[in-house]
Amino acid sequence: MREIVTDVYVLDGVRGCNVYLLGSGEELTLIDTGMPGQAGTILSQLREMGFVPSDLRTIVLTHGHPDHVGSAKALAARCGARILAHRDEVPYIEGARPMPAASALSRLMYWLTALWLRSTAVSVDGALLDAQMVHALGGLQVCHAPGHTPGSISLYQPERGLVFCGDALFNRNPMTGRRGLQLPLASVSADMAQARASARLLADLAIEMLLPGHGEPVSGDVPDRILALLGKPDDRGA
Ligand SMILES: [Zn+2]
Ligand SMILES: [Zn+2]
Repeated sequence: MREIVTDVYVLDGVRGCNVYLLGSGEELTLIDTGMPGQAGTILSQLREMGFVPSDLRTIVLTHGHPDHVGSAKALAARCGARILAHRDEVPYIEGARPMPAASALSRLMYWLTALWLRSTAVSVDGALLDAQMVHALGGLQVCHAPGHTPGSISLYQPERGLVFCGDALFNRNPMTGRRGLQLPLASVSADMAQARASARLLADLAIEMLLPGHGEPVSGDVPDRILALLGKPDDRGA
């Protein structure tokens, strides 16, 4: 694992998305969990840091895509951690409803992914709402950032200007490999008009560092760089 800033670690070798570990005391919080099959990789890094699995008390899921929720069920089973996600994302994370798709391509992709990954469905223990605080890193504010999915969230630590944005913004697109700050790919997002409106709201935060679900952290003029993206057309991945 690598400490990005004090008490914020990104774990190594996790397939899927960036998995962030928060905390230095007795209680740990994880943001997202990667693809299925990553629990062992995640827990071995906790042990290297001197923790035991039961120290992981909370898992916050930024949204319900399989590259983020894939190992949540296995981790919760092994650690007893409670799983938190936005209220509007709960039916998708729990497998009660199929993820809304913006295009026939994404519907086909979700269907193939579900076949390939088997079910990633997991029970959510706590439904979050916009502006609610999560007790980690001195207080993380939930920012509902719908568009990529209906219940996507970002998590904002106001004193330190940290924003864990999930897939509301990317710094590397895992589908196309394109690097740099960008809006989510339209073909795998539920509603791009909403995604743009959410990015516009994130640009209002005092962001010192953006920690995305994909790609390296972004710092330096982050709000202005987000606003600059909004003048560009959607990336449809073609
Ligand atoms: Zn996603
Ligand atoms: Zn993702």
